[in-house]
Amino acid sequence: MYDVAIVGAGVIGSAIARELSKFRVNACVIERETDVCEGTSKANSAIVHAGFDAKPGTLKAKLNVEGNALMEKLSQDLDFPLKKNGSLVVCTKDQDATLLDKLLEQSKLNGVPGCRIVEREELMQMEPNLADDVVKALYAPTGAIVCPFHLTIALAENAADNGVEFKMQTSVESIERVMDHYLIHTDDGDIETKAIVNAAGVYADKLNNMVSSRKLEIIPRRGQYMLLDKAAGEHVSHTIFQLPSKMGKGVLVTPTVHGNLLVGPTAEDIDNKEGVNTTMAGLDSLAPTSSLSVKDVPYRQVITSFAGLRAHEKDGDFVLGEAEDAPNFFNAAGIESPGLSSAPAIGIMIAKEVAEKLGLEENPNFNGKRKGIVNPATLSIEERNALIKENPAYGQIICRCESISEGEILDSIHRTLGARTLDGVKRRTRAGMGRCQAGFCSPKVMEILEREIPMSMFDVRKSGEDSKIVVGYNKKI
Ligand SMILES: Cc1cc2nc3c(=O)[nH]c(=O)nc-3n(C[C@H](O)[C@H](O)[C@H](O)COP(=O)(O)OP(=O)(O)OC[C@H]3O[C@@H](n4cnc5c(N)ncnc54)[C@H](O)[C@@H]3O)c2cc1C
Repeated sequence: MYDVAIVGAGVIGSAIARELSKFRVNACVIERETDVCEGTSKANSAIVHAGFDAKPGTLKAKLNVEGNALMEKLSQDLDFPLKKNGSLVVCTKDQDATLLDKLLEQSKLNGVPGCRIVEREELMQMEPNLADDVVKALYAPTGAIVCPFHLTIALAENAADNGVEFKMQTSVESIERVMDHYLIHTDDGDIETKAIVNAAGVYADKLNNMVSSRKLEIIPRRGQYMLLDKAAGEHVSHTIFQLPSKMGKGVLVTPTVHGNLLVGPTAEDIDNKEGVNTTMAGLDSLAPTSSLSVKDVPYRQVITSFAGLRAHEKDGDFVLGEAEDAPNFFNAAGIESPGLSSAPAIGIMIAKEVAEKLGLEENPNFNGKRKGIVNPATLSIEERNALIKENPAYGQIICRCESISEGEILDSIHRTLGARTLDGVKRRTRAGMGRCQAGFCSPKVMEILEREIPMSMFDVRKSGEDSKIVVGYNKKI
């Protein structure tokens, strides 16, 4: 019997798993997909919000500010990319500038350090491509950008290295309370556990409602994006927000931590929890909306589009902690934005609550450090030569757009919770994330997966079960 079973290997389940591994615990993570970071954690704006946006006194406000403060040390310990680029909420001449003052006031109430109002003259020095109508902005120096894949994967890898078991391709179908523990019925057999942590993203209401009479309702709120080539990556250097509305933080324009430019998201309530498709109307709305804050975005440089689903709980705040009428069932539900930013703090909060309830002792062997995949592009020419001499696979370039070598791909496959799909390799190494969007490197990565796992070429998938790539020999079909 497990002490704790966490449902969901997104950033929240992975953060909780890592924090729990600081205790002596027999824990597992149950994930229906092939890999970690397959849900909302892979499709968002990747901003570590400063924390001025959430209503004072809410869990969102508290955990966002705490998570932001924890992120830098975490990025050093777990070796994932983070850049403190600062953020600006801009106000145009036709908008109500007192809303910026309110945000500034809110930043103070939430405990966000260093926010201030910046007037146009200074703003133009900070961001020359702001729209002509922008008159002032709220500047938050602690705003940052992160790689959401690397953050999630690093948390999960480190949890696994500290003893948490990951059960992939296992979907929770129902939950039964049996005496003093739970029986989780999955499509791959039953799992017995003393406690459950519900980190199932947009499905967290479904999980909660299996055991609790306090019903949750999560509305999937879709956000669509366009990602631009690295050639456009310096169009802005800060994250540029518009004044927020009741549907969220509005359309932003931001550099990504890897040097691309990201524009989005839309905000549309939908009734399909799998509705991560983009729409022409959604994508078409981005250029006119973004032009209110940033001018001349080079939309000819768009290399891909994508959508993610915010897990919007109808009452608006994060739902965290033990369900009142379901002992040892802990929710991490309704984790919409700023969920990524808050993940380190949510991990600590839930793990502490679970550990206290189960009476867990500290794990003296916990090792909180993890080394990421070596990126030869960040090395000096001497270091790179030495690396290639030691392992020639680092001299073999597979993805030409992003200069990703075979050595990096091999590492992504053979490390803890290693990649098993094209997307798994892509998220760990960036092979396929460049201008050609995997057009050239996919067949080579597939051959490497076939050889290294080893697996049949017919079983190599893009991501999930239904994403086979090779279906037969061309002369036979
Ligand atoms: C458009 C958009 C923009 C955003 N921008 C930001 C931002 O800039 N900054 C920020 O801080 N936050 C942002 N967020 C929010 C952030 O992305 C989320 O809060 C966070 O990723 C939620 O993580 P999660 O682990 O709860 O959910 P997920 O990543 O969705 O993970 C849940 C996991 O549970 C699994 N699962 C579900 N049901 C079952 C089952 N029955 N059995 C087994 N497994 C199951 C799923 O497969 C999934 O992997 C944004 C979100 C969206 C949609």
